[in-house]
Amino acid sequence: MGVSTTARAGELADNLAFVRGRIAAACAAAGRDPAKITLIAVTKTFPASDVRLLAGLGIAEVGENRDQEAAPKAAECADLPLTWHFVGQLQTNKARAVAAYADVVQSVDRARLVSALSAGAVRAERTLRCLVQVSLDERPGGRGGAAPAEVPGLAGLIAGADGLELGGVMAVAPQGADPARAFERLARIAADLRAAHPEATAISAGMSGDLEQAVACGATHLRIGTALLGGRSAIVR
Ligand SMILES: *Cc1c(COP(=O)(O)O)cnc(C)c1O
Repeated sequence: MGVSTTARAGELADNLAFVRGRIAAACAAAGRDPAKITLIAVTKTFPASDVRLLAGLGIAEVGENRDQEAAPKAAECADLPLTWHFVGQLQTNKARAVAAYADVVQSVDRARLVSALSAGAVRAERTLRCLVQVSLDERPGGRGGAAPAEVPGLAGLIAGADGLELGGVMAVAPQGADPARAFERLARIAADLRAAHPEATAISAGMSGDLEQAVACGATHLRIGTALLGGRSAIVR
């Protein structure tokens, strides 16, 4: 390893230890087992070399939000034992491409996307795990996601689609809202979903700024970018 690679590896190791400490403290406060929480490193805007370093530090799950960036990165890291999560808003015409490398699509928020992902998964002869992205924004036109009332219908479509598997729900806390309130609402939606689909156990909630509230509200998956990798130079939603 060159000097700069070694320095970056040390920085990522420090960040990871700090994040793991935060998760452990949040679990202790909530009486939860940290082993039941999956940490997803959201590597958007960071190079494949960072993904490789994180894999060397024990990270097994990575998240990306743009197909143009994720596809080549996943290809460069194809030798690593990683689970790839697609967490960004997904255009229907990109669904087939994403189905070729993603293991989990967390941002399923409309029926047309379900059919496009199903077609892509069948064509690629893969099984894609899908989470229903729920909008917790009281005002319409937020950052994507289905309205809570649409969740049962979408979940049923996913559960019945060839090549797809229903995993659970995902949400981003609305800007300016109390994340704890948003994640409590998500937990209720997830409980209703599990009543109909017991296999749909995933609750993907919590980012760098609100992972504690997410753990307190039962999150099973945390999507952490900034706290692990550092600040992103461009605003990438
Ligand atoms: C970028 C992103 C994250 C990570 O956010 P940080 O605040 O950097 O931890 C999580 N989820 C989604 C959907 C994202 O787009």
